[in-house]
Amino acid sequence: MPRLFIVGGSDAGISAALRARELAPDWQVTVAVADRYPNFSICGIPYFISKEVPEADNLAHRKADDIRALGVELLLGHRVEGIDPAKHLVTERNANGETSEHRYDKLIIGTGATSIRPPHFGP
Ligand SMILES: Cc1cc2nc3c(=O)[nH]c(=O)nc-3n(C[C@H](O)[C@H](O)[C@H](O)COP(=O)(O)OP(=O)(O)OC[C@H]3O[C@@H](n4cnc5c(N)ncnc54)[C@H](O)[C@@H]3O)c2cc1C
Repeated sequence: MPRLFIVGGSDAGISAALRARELAPDWQVTVAVADRYPNFSICGIPYFISKEVPEADNLAHRKADDIRALGVELLLGHRVEGIDPAKHLVTERNANGETSEHRYDKLIIGTGATSIRPPHFGP
């Protein structure tokens, strides 16, 4: 079975996984998520901090079980640490410190971004 491996399980990673399941149901789709909160509304965090949303779980667009029920293999708490494009292998480490390798046919990286502060705005 061809295998799609996705690194990152937030907006980009889960959107890609669910669309892949629609377009290519014969592919195995695996998503590795460094944290334990797949498909959370990051945009909702201010409302959780202000207590307008009382429970952090309410920020989930979909729960892990909902995503798994759509045929996506979810690896929660698994941080990808290496990619070997020549061998089509990713290496990830789980929360217990154990490492595993996964073969892929196609790879999608959806690990987000880090903001920068341009120097002319000062410290
Ligand atoms: C406070 C706040 C409010 C916002 N409000 C809005 C809004 O109103 N409207 C809007 O359009 N956008 C908003 N955004 C922006 C929006 O949240 C981001 O554009 C969106 O979350 C980006 O999604 P992403 O999947 O690309 O990355 P992220 O959401 O950053 O997710 C990255 C994913 O990659 C995983 N990951 C990272 N490294 C690894 C690794 N090595 N191995 C495995 N997994 C890894 C993480 O665990 C996570 O699952 C807001 C952002 C913030 C912080």
